[in-house]
Amino acid sequence: MKRALVCGAGGFIGHHLVSKLKSLGYWVRGIDLKHPEFEPSQADEFIIGDLRLLEVTQLAINQGDVVDEIYQLAADMGGAGYIFTGEHDANVMHNSAMINLNIIDEATKAKVKKVFYSSSACIYPEYNQLDPNNPKCSEDSAYPAAPDSEYGWEKLFSERLYLSYYRNHHIQVRIARFHNIYGPLGTWQGGKEKAPAAICRKIAEVNDGGTIDVWGDGNQTRSFLYIDACIEGILTLMNHDYLGPYNIGSDEMVSINQLVAMAAKAANKTIQINHIDGPLGVRGRNSDNDLILNDLGWAPQFSLEAGIKLTYQWINSQLNA
Ligand code: NAD
Repeated sequence: MKRALVCGAGGFIGHHLVSKLKSLGYWVRGIDLKHPEFEPSQADEFIIGDLRLLEVTQLAINQGDVVDEIYQLAADMGGAGYIFTGEHDANVMHNSAMINLNIIDEATKAKVKKVFYSSSACIYPEYNQLDPNNPKCSEDSAYPAAPDSEYGWEKLFSERLYLSYYRNHHIQVRIARFHNIYGPLGTWQGGKEKAPAAICRKIAEVNDGGTIDVWGDGNQTRSFLYIDACIEGILTLMNHDYLGPYNIGSDEMVSINQLVAMAAKAANKTIQINHIDGPLGVRGRNSDNDLILNDLGWAPQFSLEAGIKLTYQWINSQLNA
């Protein structure tokens, strides 16, 4: 039986990943500052602990038999309202870098067979994402580096950290750059929620014909990947010989206004938009999936419309709970 450690197992993607690994027959230890918010974890062991602390990281990796695989998803992060205001920059950089420095060094010492690291589309340079209809996010466009947030800079630093341990110490690492993952059991209120969840919540809160606030003119573009497809992408990458970094995202690009229309359709409501000032991030972003399709044969198998419908239904049920 393979033994996996999921770091960030109380978070959105980590929690879904634990469930998937359990269904595949893994023994799983989760670690996080908190338990999952919306349902209990299926992990065999769940440590409430702070991965910024070396002794906690050592315990998570070494307690009992050393784990075979680590899935590193722990980070100090949130949506645009958390990352792009600048107020959390020092915490984001310090906390996430500490976690990654501890994990890869201890994993190497413990001779862990493989480590997955979750990077982000936020590493891509702002200068390639100014045209909302033609953003460039191929993996090789990451340099010359110019991320538009400190969150992106930390992710880029940590990608390089994991790759340098691979080169110098031969530990197997796998790196993905996630592009806006969404779905049920994700944060949907409180300031750390991302655009799909925030829009679904706002629509669920108003009556048919109501108005919701949207940051900016709504013509900024993004792509959104449903959680199940993300988990498939992680496992595909872990079971392959290539290291990455690879984009794990959807290439179904929409404007935020189109996303609102899709969520309104899922809610069966007519919705008006009130455009207000707010933190925005880059003008356009879309996952370029050519490389991962070519190397690993992976492409997402879930339409945005179907995913938004499931997400809306879940958030609506939470509001009415
Ligand atoms: P999340 O915030 O739901 O989960 C991250 C978890 O890490 C949280 O539960 C948090 O408590 C935990 N954590 C933070 N600091 C910790 C510490 N010091 N010790 C232990 N645990 C700690 O985020 P998510 O959406 O599940 O994202 C998972 C990973 O994927 C993150 O690294 C994130 O940067 C990356 N990512 C996510 C997206 C997305 O759209 N969700 C996009 C790009 C990259």
